[in-house]
Amino acid sequence: MGFSDFHGNAETVHRLRDMLARKRFPHAVVLSGARGAGKYTLALMLAQVLNCLAPIETDGLPDFCGQCANCRRIGQAADLNARFAEAVETREGMRETDKKETRLFVQTHPDVLVIPPDPPQMMIKVDQVRRVIETIYYRPSEARERVYIFTDSAFMKEAANSLLKVLEEPPDFATILLLSENPGELLPTIRSRSMVFPLTAVPVEDIDRYLAEQRPEWKPPQRALVARLSDGTLGRARSFDLDAYVAARADALAILNSALVGGEHTQLFKITESYRPGAEGRERTERLLRTLYSLLRDLMFLESGSPHLVHNTDIQSQLNKLADTADFNWIAGASDRLAEVERGMRRNLLRSLSLDALGLALEKSA
Ligand SMILES: [Zn+2]
Repeated sequence: MGFSDFHGNAETVHRLRDMLARKRFPHAVVLSGARGAGKYTLALMLAQVLNCLAPIETDGLPDFCGQCANCRRIGQAADLNARFAEAVETREGMRETDKKETRLFVQTHPDVLVIPPDPPQMMIKVDQVRRVIETIYYRPSEARERVYIFTDSAFMKEAANSLLKVLEEPPDFATILLLSENPGELLPTIRSRSMVFPLTAVPVEDIDRYLAEQRPEWKPPQRALVARLSDGTLGRARSFDLDAYVAARADALAILNSALVGGEHTQLFKITESYRPGAEGRERTERLLRTLYSLLRDLMFLESGSPHLVHNTDIQSQLNKLADTADFNWIAGASDRLAEVERGMRRNLLRSLSLDALGLALEKSA
């Protein structure tokens, strides 16, 4: 338990811990990075190291024990999706008038407040920042440091302005952590009062090694595939639904095969027919479209003589066969057709209808 459990971005983590060691930790920190990069995991670890009751040192730098009351309670917020869903459910169960006035928070420790974007707009609202202002100037009750974690940087305008006021005069005993996929979204005046620490993409080999520990049931080619499909983030690698991906890819390959190599339409229709409207069907269809894009991108890499960039390495020979039949124009046209289907889905056209149209349109342009 401790920072050794954080994988990747060792240099950034080292810098943060070094600032802690020199008692120079900033009052406002922006952790930026893609979804799944580990921003929230790292933020909770920082809340723990700031408040651990039995602090330790590892590699000569501050670390946390993970066992004391503060570490444990802060750690209970680790499953953000589950805690968020509970908070939403609690609010849903309230009377209408109370519902309107209740803002969403995740709080498993009295001095550590997690502020998620508030649905349905999924933005940070002014009442949420107001709660921060109401509490931040009081000394922490059970911790050394009050910690506020904003899990998203989409602020309503008034909320951003209120946060700015706090950042102008933060108390000594409070730390604000802002997590952001895109720090450009934050007011420049908020950014300039914070220190930005980017979490960058983790190399494919490191993800592969991480998966060997986390998913020992996967064979090396499966690990290699997921490592390449995770866009450099361990979060996505860890939660990757390999079975669903492989199923979607089989369908995507059949659609491309039918378009490029030709054959009976019955097989194509059998596949597209299985994509039904409704929430589940929608998710499957979206996965199918994402997979089609990923295969088209691989075909593009093969066409341009860059096979080392191919993601779906485990089916390279099938891709080579398709690449022999396709050319740049066809791939570009196919991407356009895909975009049309996505637009149709947003307008809620019948799923299977637009997929059939896709299959046939691809064929015509072949
Ligand atoms: Zn501890």
